[in-house]
Amino acid sequence: MIRMTLDEIAKVTGGRLVNAAPSVVVSGPVEYDSRRVGAGGLFVAFDGEKVDGHAFAPTAVAAGAAAVLSSRDTGQPGVVVEEPLVALAALAREVVSRLPDLTIIGLTGSSGKTTTKDYIGQLLARVGPTIAPAGSLNNELGFPYTVLQATEETRFLVLEMGARGIGHIRYLCDIARPNVGLVLNIGAAHIGEFGSIEGTAQAKGELVEALTPAGIAVLNADDPLVAGMASRTSARVLLTGESPEAAVRATEVSLDSAGRASYRLGYDGHFGNVRLGVAGRHQVANTLAAAGVALSLGMDFDDLVGALGEIGIVSSRRMDVFTRPDGVTVIDDSYNANPSSTAAALHALAAMSAGGRRIAVLGYMAELGRHEVSGHVEVGRLAAELGVDRLIAVADNARSILDGASEVGDWTGEAIFADDQASALGFVTRDLRAGDVVLVKGSRYRTWDVVDGLRPEEG
Ligand code: ATP
Ligand code: MG
Repeated sequence: MIRMTLDEIAKVTGGRLVNAAPSVVVSGPVEYDSRRVGAGGLFVAFDGEKVDGHAFAPTAVAAGAAAVLSSRDTGQPGVVVEEPLVALAALAREVVSRLPDLTIIGLTGSSGKTTTKDYIGQLLARVGPTIAPAGSLNNELGFPYTVLQATEETRFLVLEMGARGIGHIRYLCDIARPNVGLVLNIGAAHIGEFGSIEGTAQAKGELVEALTPAGIAVLNADDPLVAGMASRTSARVLLTGESPEAAVRATEVSLDSAGRASYRLGYDGHFGNVRLGVAGRHQVANTLAAAGVALSLGMDFDDLVGALGEIGIVSSRRMDVFTRPDGVTVIDDSYNANPSSTAAALHALAAMSAGGRRIAVLGYMAELGRHEVSGHVEVGRLAAELGVDRLIAVADNARSILDGASEVGDWTGEAIFADDQASALGFVTRDLRAGDVVLVKGSRYRTWDVVDGLRPEEG
């Protein structure tokens, strides 16, 4: 965090100074995990459900933290506030106000936020010092936590924004108002909370509503609900996509046998050939969106074209493709799943041809509410339509995936129900051979155990 005295922190958060002089300076990182605390930093103690952060205050201070921000006096130097989460937001707001030259990029969407945030981070890092930490720090905790990493040196701060309801993104924008706001897509993610896809669009659109006329809204021209957000913003709009109305546009899209896309990128009379190193047709949209952000912030077009070819996956378990020594390819997309992202992953699987079979291991997709059954049926049907050779549904609430597949009359693949991850792994590995491609996807139910069972031993 930028240098602040405890006195200033107490003022900004409306807190009370305890066990320390007002002039004590915090200049290190703000952390809520005592294992990550750094010298001169601020440790934030939360009342967790399982662990009480306050118990770790002495450890954090012993590890070098200058002070503790907490809701009770921990006996350590610090500031006591009513609600540490609210205090964190206030601190983040203060940091932003003290860094007037910082350019803030905020992005939201139903799928691909973390992936695209990582792409934007990789592109902008070539232009200037950029903060875009790995992972999915998109809620009322992760968002201010990321903001607090900005310093006087930072030029670009890239912030992922998640929404589980109306007002969530507005709340985040109120902490750090983006200069550039990007909306990727509106799909069925978390639809359980929103009730409808229009409700989702309403909530995500709060991002473009928060932009000022000096801001830029980067919108997906190919997603009508996103493109329609143009009318909700006073910012300049930059459309990205494959449709003719996109200002940042991909044409001549093709996929190689590893599922990686190539396309011709056009923008404002410039053209260049992009060859992506990341797999999946959906990466065209993600990289176009990232390109839109980079171009709107003045990145040179030719530098951008070169850089797009070099970007990679940063945050784990998102289209992480690896080939084992025995020639089996595994797509680890097991971080999370919803019908749109599972469709993207299935298309990526279908685009890959290594000479063998295509195997999809699909777990339960959480947070679909009343769309739960139809969502699972839909992805099962798609898997069969795409000609997956073996479809394995893992655990009880994923069973309807197989019902969807059975609706596809001419599908000749194998449908298998696995009670748990271990049994799914057994169905995958029983006859694996070189050239087979295995996709693993699901949410929560630790589908990633299947991937870990497929990973070759290190060393
Ligand atoms: P979360 O809501 O969990 O934070 P996210 O929006 O950050 O998710 P990512 O973690 O980037 O999304 O990607 C999750 C998965 O979504 C990917 O592994 C991939 O299967 C899929 N995905 C990524 N980009 C897209 C896209 N543009 N359209 C559809 N699916 C996508
Ligand atoms: Mg994410």
